[in-house]
Amino acid sequence: MEQLLTGEEFGWWFVCHQGKIWLPQGVLPKGRASEWSLNGTTGFSIGEWLGEPVWLVCQSKPEGMAPVRQLLDEDKDLFQLAGKAVQLAEFYRSHLFCGYCGTKMYHSREEWACLCPECHQRYYPQIAPCIIVAIRKGEEILLAQHHRHRGGIYTALAGFVEVGETLEQAVAREVMEESNICVRNVRYVTSQPWPFPHSLMTAFLADYASGELKHDPKELLDAGWFHYEKLPVLPPVGTVARRLIEDTVALCRSEQDNDG
Ligand SMILES: [Zn+2]
Repeated sequence: MEQLLTGEEFGWWFVCHQGKIWLPQGVLPKGRASEWSLNGTTGFSIGEWLGEPVWLVCQSKPEGMAPVRQLLDEDKDLFQLAGKAVQLAEFYRSHLFCGYCGTKMYHSREEWACLCPECHQRYYPQIAPCIIVAIRKGEEILLAQHHRHRGGIYTALAGFVEVGETLEQAVAREVMEESNICVRNVRYVTSQPWPFPHSLMTAFLADYASGELKHDPKELLDAGWFHYEKLPVLPPVGTVARRLIEDTVALCRSEQDNDG
């Protein structure tokens, strides 16, 4: 898992600090540790990409540190590994001392964990589950414009799961809070690790049950029911949100085909 790099180690190098990744000349470094002056530092073996080992080094470089977002359009597996790398780097950086007794901690050699030698508490990387849901009403889909999205994109509703809540309850609560709509027939579709900063996105489809659409202006700029053939600007292909919208469009279309 964790080892002192001699320089001979070969592979892809995620040099990470504060959610950023070292991309000299905009490219992920590959080769021997010594070629990138990483010998003498600590490396974590975190996986494989294109048949080569992937390493994490928790360090900042004076130049070429880029936000992990920059790899969002790259290969899906690479982006997932990049997310793992920045999250582990942040986990180790934020767990130097035990939260209970204040003793300096050490890294487990068996799993991604920090251990307290004094009170024997064990800490794992924190993952924050969130839900995203596409809601269908007949031939229409509920889409919303978020404050944080630029470019006028309309997308599915989303939010964090709260303590003591099931995923399905989080879906119902978020939709009610943000749009005043009651949903039914909530179905799980897929999930995606989302390293901003440490979420796990769980994606759902749901059907409209009742209520009149009234969006929460604190959360959303706008929300509306859109006919599946007249959709606004959507999130990019490859995102979970886009997949949910496309799945809903397919449902609308197949139902129309059955009717007609
Ligand atoms: Zn402790």
